[in-house]
Amino acid sequence: MARDRAIPNSIPQPLAAGAKIRWLQRPPQLKTKDIFPDRTRIRRKLVQWYDEHRRELPWRRTQDPYAIWISEIMLQQTRVETVIPYYLRFLEKFPTVESLARAESGDVVKVWENLGYYARARNLQKAAQQIMDRFGGRIPAHREEILRLPGIGRYTAGAILSIAFGRPVAAVDGNVRRVISRLRAIEDPIDDDEVRERIEALVQTLVPKRDPGRFNQALMELGAVCCTPKTPICPSCPLQTDCRAWEQGFTDRLPVRRKRKVIPHRQVVAAILRNEKKRILIVQRPGHGLLGSLWKFPGGILDSGESPEKGLKRIVREELGIGIGVGPSIAAVKHAYTHFRITLTAFACVLSGGVPSGPVWRWAGIEEIDALPFSKADRLVAASVAIDP
Ligand code: SF4
Repeated sequence: MARDRAIPNSIPQPLAAGAKIRWLQRPPQLKTKDIFPDRTRIRRKLVQWYDEHRRELPWRRTQDPYAIWISEIMLQQTRVETVIPYYLRFLEKFPTVESLARAESGDVVKVWENLGYYARARNLQKAAQQIMDRFGGRIPAHREEILRLPGIGRYTAGAILSIAFGRPVAAVDGNVRRVISRLRAIEDPIDDDEVRERIEALVQTLVPKRDPGRFNQALMELGAVCCTPKTPICPSCPLQTDCRAWEQGFTDRLPVRRKRKVIPHRQVVAAILRNEKKRILIVQRPGHGLLGSLWKFPGGILDSGESPEKGLKRIVREELGIGIGVGPSIAAVKHAYTHFRITLTAFACVLSGGVPSGPVWRWAGIEEIDALPFSKADRLVAASVAIDP
C-alpha cells in the first residue's frame, strides 16, 4: 500500500463519457496516449475477475467505515498476512471510534507493537478523538473533512470514501500505480510526483459511479496477486489484451523508479543496567518520531568514529544524568527501517554514579517489559536479556 502524501485540497470526480478532464488544483498532465479508450469493457472484465478470484480478507466482510479505516491504515507499507492478526486484535480491543478515542495511548501502541510505523497508531487515536469531538463519533463521508484528519491522505481518503460510502473517488496505492504503468506503458518513474498525479487522474477516469469501492479493490487486488512487481502472471490477467507492456513485451521493465539513494547505516548502543532487585532500567521515548511512546533500554546512536564504550557512557549521561561502567556485549541485533538500517548492540552495564533523571524511566521486571510496548529491535534485546538474566 502506498504511503499517503500531503493533504490535497481536492479529489477529482469521475468523468462522464466524452467529458473533458477537469483538475481543480493543478493540471494532471494526462497524455492523450495514456487515456483508456474502452473504460466500460476494462471495468467489467476487472470486476468480474475480482468477484471470481479475490482473497477473502476480514475487512472485505464489512461496510463499517471504522473497520475499513483501521484496515487501510494498517495495510500501508505492510503485508496483508502480517496485518490480519493485528486487525482482528485491534478491533477486538477497540471496536468503535469511541473506544479508540478514550483508550490509554500506551494500550493503543501496545496492540500495534511490531507492526512498525508507530505514527500510524498515534494518528489513528488523534483522528478518533477529533471524530468524537467534531462529528459525534461518525467518520465523515466528505473528502474535505476526512482529509483533515491526522494520518489520512489521498489514498486512504479514496479507499474509505469509495469502499465505505460508495463515493466514486480513486484510491491509488503502489499496486495500482504498477498496474497502470504497465497497462499504459508509462516509462516515466512512478515515484515522481507529476507521474503519480497523472496516474491518479487516469484511474479517476476509470472509477465507475456504481460500486466504486469494488472497482478500486479489484484494481488493487490485480496488482497484489497478478500484476506483481517481479513476474506478473500475464496469462491469468483479465486485462491482458488491454495491456501495452504485455503487447510490446516489456512487462519486466515496468514500472520505472527513480534511482534509490544508498540507505545509511547507524550504530546504536544500549545499556542493560540492573538494580539490587535485578530489575532493569528502561526509558520511554518521547511521544513523537519514528518509535514515539515506545519503551527502550538507555542508549542511542553513536557518533561517527566513536567507540561503543565511550559513546554509551556519553549517551546515558546525557539521557539520564548517570555514570555507568560498560561490560561485555550481550546482544547484537540488525534491523532495517525504510530510510536507514541499524545494528543495535546491548552491553551489560553497572551504575557508577548518580540517580536517573530526565525522561520517563523505571526499573522493570521481565514480565513488565513484556507487557510494555517496545520496538522490534529492542524486543529482541529484551529476549536475550530474559534468557541471560
Ligand atoms: S497483462 Fe501482465 S503486465 Fe499487463 S496488467 Fe496484466 S499482469 Fe500486468
